[in-house]
Amino acid sequence: MKKIFIHLGTDSPDYRGLMHAQQDLELPGQTVPAANLVICEQTHSSLVHICREGDSGAGLGAHPQIPVADGFSTNIPGQFLLIRTADCYPVLFSDAEAMVVAAVHSGREGTRQNIVEQAVNAMMRNYGCDPANIVAHIGAGICEDHYEVSEEIWREFNQTLEQQGFCPCTKKFRHLNIRTTIFQQLIRAGLKFINIENIHACTFENPNYFSYRRDKGNNRQINIIGIINE
Ligand SMILES: [Zn+2]
Repeated sequence: MKKIFIHLGTDSPDYRGLMHAQQDLELPGQTVPAANLVICEQTHSSLVHICREGDSGAGLGAHPQIPVADGFSTNIPGQFLLIRTADCYPVLFSDAEAMVVAAVHSGREGTRQNIVEQAVNAMMRNYGCDPANIVAHIGAGICEDHYEVSEEIWREFNQTLEQQGFCPCTKKFRHLNIRTTIFQQLIRAGLKFINIENIHACTFENPNYFSYRRDKGNNRQINIIGIINE
């Protein structure tokens, strides 16, 4: 029987540790073999890659990351999609009817480009998923209060959202609300309100998460979704 495994990570186990050890990940309830992970380049694009068998292990050892992409989707059991984040938002998608999963890195630019819609579209087009069956799992990311940007970036972000018919939903000058934007985008993509799950944690405030803005470091949370055979 197939089952969907989801892990929205904290600072342990961490991405640098994984890159250093190149070993299987021991996660709550599941051992994830390193050779079955798929890691993408995460270039702040809105590109969602459709995984093949040969993509397993991408980003580990000599096997290059999936180029350019900031998201991917698979229906291959045993393949685990990994998104690394520290302030940006990981969004994991599961469709238990069609047995399809997807994962995206939705930072400021990915969110501006509505990468979550690209993921839902990829699941529909490639695997025949019905958005009404898709559950989205939004992980920890930086909150509006702690996410201040330049006026230029703020205006560009808000302008794009308004052009797309979304509400910037921020009352604070030069602050961005990424989580609320993603939520609107998921609803527009056809997901049901009750199928949007949310970890209400701010990476900047919570010491159990890496925060790029707070730490200026290069370590990241590990977020994983995959289909397992039981
Ligand atoms: Zn915060």
